[in-house]
Amino acid sequence: MGGSSRQAYLDAMGITAWVRLDAGGEARATNVSAEASESLVRHAGEGRHPETVVEPLDSGVRRNDASGEPATGELNWDELKARVSVCTRCAELAATRTQTVFGVGDHNAQWMVIGEAPGAEEDRQGEPFVGRAGQLLNNMLKAIGLQRETVFIANMIKCRPPGNRDPLPEEIANCSDYLQRQVALLSPKIILAVGRISAQNLLKTSEPLARLRGKVHRLGDVPLVVTYHPAYLLRTPGDKAKAWTDLRFARDVAEGRRS
Ligand code: SF4
Repeated sequence: MGGSSRQAYLDAMGITAWVRLDAGGEARATNVSAEASESLVRHAGEGRHPETVVEPLDSGVRRNDASGEPATGELNWDELKARVSVCTRCAELAATRTQTVFGVGDHNAQWMVIGEAPGAEEDRQGEPFVGRAGQLLNNMLKAIGLQRETVFIANMIKCRPPGNRDPLPEEIANCSDYLQRQVALLSPKIILAVGRISAQNLLKTSEPLARLRGKVHRLGDVPLVVTYHPAYLLRTPGDKAKAWTDLRFARDVAEGRRS
């Protein structure tokens, strides 16, 4: 990506006037607060230490013995999407959703982005990360040279919680084998967990998001990096500089420069 093009996406993220500081490509914003600038250094240092290794979500095997249908872990993309579309495991969500939000993107993608749950607009459109938060995610991806169409984007759960409440633990558990099958089918080079709910549930931890950033976690064999949810960044633009740090860190991990 050309410098001017990247600058345009950084501008769209609200991070302007990035300048090179050294030949190694480290950069910093000239217009972020002293606190944010300090955090760039602090988290760059943290990134050298591999963190937790977490087993994949669950067994991924749920054979419907009554119907004799194949287990979730045996389904292909089309079969999995069809099964999710009629799922009623979470009675409240199944009754209140407009439609399921399976996920979208390239089935051969090297990057997988995992968020929390569909919101109102996602529920209407049937696609994750649309609206203003989706636009910001697109710009975040573009800033590191990725087009939305070239990654796969999904959520922990596939149905909108009413009133945009947090997903319940049992809803995340109900939906986990679908997500696990998506991860297995995709076999991505890296997972980017966006937001606290996604990060804590994927990593099976209650650690605050700030402590999970800047480290390489693993979900099974797949490296996993944590960053802020774009909806949070819209409310807290001062943290966009930290998200930019996370994205560059994730890119380094995906390209084998960090492990
Ligand atoms: S959230 Fe997942 S498990 Fe629950 S009803 Fe929707 S698709 Fe089924």
